[in-house]
Amino acid sequence: MSDTVDSVIVAIDGPAGTGKSSTSKAVAAALGLRYLDTGAQYRAITWWMLHNGVDIADPAAIATVAEKPSVVSGTDPAAPTISVDGVDATGPIRTPEVSAAVSAVSAVPEVRTRITALQRSIATGAPTGIVVEGRDIGTTVLPDADVKIFLTASAEARAARRAGETAGADLAATKAALIKRDAADSGRKTSPLAKADDAIEVDTTELTLAQVIERVVALVEERRAAK
Ligand code: C5P
Repeated sequence: MSDTVDSVIVAIDGPAGTGKSSTSKAVAAALGLRYLDTGAQYRAITWWMLHNGVDIADPAAIATVAEKPSVVSGTDPAAPTISVDGVDATGPIRTPEVSAAVSAVSAVPEVRTRITALQRSIATGAPTGIVVEGRDIGTTVLPDADVKIFLTASAEARAARRAGETAGADLAATKAALIKRDAADSGRKTSPLAKADDAIEVDTTELTLAQVIERVVALVEERRAAK
């Protein structure tokens, strides 16, 4: 048994609205792990591009400035933060404008290379371990993660959850935007949204958040005990 027996890396991937963030934060808090929201990093870089007048329809323009913004993630699951060039971007990255633009920015290989390196350094630097949520964590960013979970849910359930998070949101429009973003994320060439062969798939359509958390905590504890 090594002295790093307690350290565990958990990858949680899946499309939007499957409960990834709520599950990942709760699992990290329950097990004393750090938490990294990789979608927030792509959103942050997208927010910076929109603010700096970068044409997000032009992948070459995005690639040219991909290294420019400094993106810093706070990994406390009770209060995760994200800042860009020292400015707190926690609120602004959730706007519909950023949601609509993020798939185009995250599809650019130079952006992914840069953000992937950042994600790996955060994950390996977490002393007791970390829960990392995203789209390509189990396949590309941390292929040696101790536990890989792939969350799914029906498009209806996902849209209803997303619409429920935003006051006055239109369900049909939310569903259409979500399906469009998933198609872009799944269809891109570089590191698309995908289930790793060794990931455990959990369909959350009929489960409560508490049930999903319980299931993932149990899976991580099992793996930790076996290490
Ligand atoms: O998780 P969230 O919905 O906030 O992610 C926003 C976007 O960031 C995704 O739609 C996707 O384009 C991108 N993303 C990604 N790879 C990840 C996490 C997110 O490309 N690991």
